[in-house]
Amino acid sequence: MTRRLIILILIFLSAALQCISQIITPDDRLRQIINRDGQAEVTLPFTDKKSAEILTINVSVLSIKDNVIYISLSQLTINWFINQKYNYRILEKKVNARALSAVSVNQASDWGTYPSYTQYDSIMQSFPKLYPSLCRLDTIGTSVKGKLVLALKISVRPDVDGGNPAVFYSSTIHGDEPAGYVMMLHLADYLLKNYSLSDRVKNLVDNLDIWINPLANPDGTYNNGDTINLPTRFNANGYDLNRNFPDPVTPNTVLQKETIDMVIFLRKHRFVLSANFHTGEEVFNYPWDRWPRLHADNDWFVSIGRKYADTVHLNAVSGYMTFLNNGITDGYQWYPVYGGRQDFVTYTLQGREVTIELDNESVSPASQLPLLWQYNWHSFLGYFENALFGIHGLVHDVKTQAPVPAKVFINGYDKDSSQVYSDTLTGRFERFLSPGSWNLTFSALGYFPVNVNNVIVEEGQKTDLIVDMSPIASSIEPINSTTHLLIYPNPAKDILNILLPDKTQGWMNLRIINQSGILIADYDIEVVQGVSVSVDVKRLSPGTYTIIFANANTRARFSGRFVVVN
Ligand SMILES: [Zn+2]
Repeated sequence: MTRRLIILILIFLSAALQCISQIITPDDRLRQIINRDGQAEVTLPFTDKKSAEILTINVSVLSIKDNVIYISLSQLTINWFINQKYNYRILEKKVNARALSAVSVNQASDWGTYPSYTQYDSIMQSFPKLYPSLCRLDTIGTSVKGKLVLALKISVRPDVDGGNPAVFYSSTIHGDEPAGYVMMLHLADYLLKNYSLSDRVKNLVDNLDIWINPLANPDGTYNNGDTINLPTRFNANGYDLNRNFPDPVTPNTVLQKETIDMVIFLRKHRFVLSANFHTGEEVFNYPWDRWPRLHADNDWFVSIGRKYADTVHLNAVSGYMTFLNNGITDGYQWYPVYGGRQDFVTYTLQGREVTIELDNESVSPASQLPLLWQYNWHSFLGYFENALFGIHGLVHDVKTQAPVPAKVFINGYDKDSSQVYSDTLTGRFERFLSPGSWNLTFSALGYFPVNVNNVIVEEGQKTDLIVDMSPIASSIEPINSTTHLLIYPNPAKDILNILLPDKTQGWMNLRIINQSGILIADYDIEVVQGVSVSVDVKRLSPGTYTIIFANANTRARFSGRFVVVN
C-alpha cells in the first residue's frame, strides 16, 4: 500500500466517523427538546396497569387512551426515564403561536385572546376597584420565580370569611393548559357584571363565598416572558404541581413553594366544594385518582358529573366532552395519579374536589376560547349550585349555644375519610349526599354522641339541621380547657409563649379570637414537641383573648385564654 493510499483511507475514515457522530440518538433528541422548551412529550404502548403505575409514580403521565400512554418529561425526570430504556416515540410539537396575545387590557377583557402577565395582574386588580362591595383580591402566595398567585373572593361580604359555605375554582396548575385560566377570568367578570341582573347569579353570590384562582402556575404559563410563549406544564423547578400534593398513603414529596402556599390557603378556607381546571382531554374526573376503589359519595359524584357534562352537551357542538363515560370518569379508571390536588382536598381536608378537562388541545387556539365559554358557562354556575343543596347544619352546645366542632359520620356508609366536621368557630357543616333518608352520628370531645335519624335529602334541595350536643361533665366549660396549655407570661405585653401538651407535634392551625368573638389571627404553624410556640401580641389591643390550636387530621384541639396589657 502506498503512503498516498493510506492517507486517503484515513481521510475517508475520519469523514465517515464524523458522519456517524452527527446521527442523533432519540435520547439526545429528547434532551435537546427539553433544553429548548423545558419539556418534551413522548408516547409508549400501554401494556398493563402495573407498568403504567410505575410510570405515573416516576414521571408526569398526561393520559392513557387507545392503548397509548402519553408522557411529559422535564429536566427532573429525563434521567430516570432514559435509564429505563423504554421503546418510546417522541411527539415533535410545533412551537405554537396559538396562544394569541392581547394587545391591551381592553382586548384581553373580551376573553377571546390570552392576556400577558401584566394584563392579567391589571385585570385582577380592576375587579375590586369596579365592584368593591362584591369582591376582594387576595394572594395565595408567590411562585418560585416570585410571580403572584392570586385569588379573587366574590361574595356579598367580601371582607368577612366564614359567613357562607366557601367554594373554589382554580385553573392552569399545568402552565401549558391556559384555556381554563381565561375561562376563570371570564367567569369572575360574568358573576360581578350579572349580580344585579340575574337571579341565578345573585343566588350564588348571596349564599356562597366564591373563590377563583385563575392561574395556579404562573411560572409555567409565562415561562418565557410576559406573554404566553413556550408555556410549560411544570413549575420553574421542573415539578408537576398536580403530582406534588401530600399523598394520603406516601406523603413524602418534596413540596414546591406553590404547593405549600396552596395547602395553607386550602386549609385556611376549608372549601366544601372545588374544581381544578385543565386541558388536554374533555372530561369531568372525580375521586379517587389514586385508588381503584370508589369514594363513599360515588353516586353523588356521578350525579354532579353527569349534570356538568349533560348541560355541556346541550350547549356544545356534538362530540365535545364525550371522552370515557360520555364525558365523566372516576380518576383511577382513566389512569392513576399520585399527589394530585383532587385526592388531597377530598381525603385530607374532607372537601369535595373534581378535575375538569376542558379541551382536547393542551394549548387551545385563542379562537376557541369564546366557544369553550359558550359550552361550559352554564355548567360553571351549575357546579357551584351543588353547594347550596344537601344537608346544611349547625352543631351547638345545648347549654351555652356555643359552636361545637363535631365529627359528622354516617355509620355503615362513610369510609376513606369521607366524613365531614363542623367548623370550630361557627359550628357549621355541609354534607352533600344523594337523595334519600340518612342517619347521622355526631361526636365531639367532651360531649355525648348524638344520632339524628331519617334526615331527608332531596334532589336540588337544601335540608337544614340543627344539632344540640350535651356536655359530658356540665361543670367543665369546653373552651376553658386551659389545663392543657401552659401560657406564659400571662398577662402578656410583647411575646406570649404557649407550651402544648406532651407528644403534640406537626402542623396545627392557630386561631386567636377576641372577646366579641371576632377572629384576630388564623394561620398554620409547625409545632415541635416540647418547644413552646411564640406569638407576637404587641399589636393586640388590651383585653382577654382565646387561643385555639387545632389539627384537622388528628382532631386534636387545645384552647386557652390570655390577657394582653399595655
Ligand atoms: Zn393538566
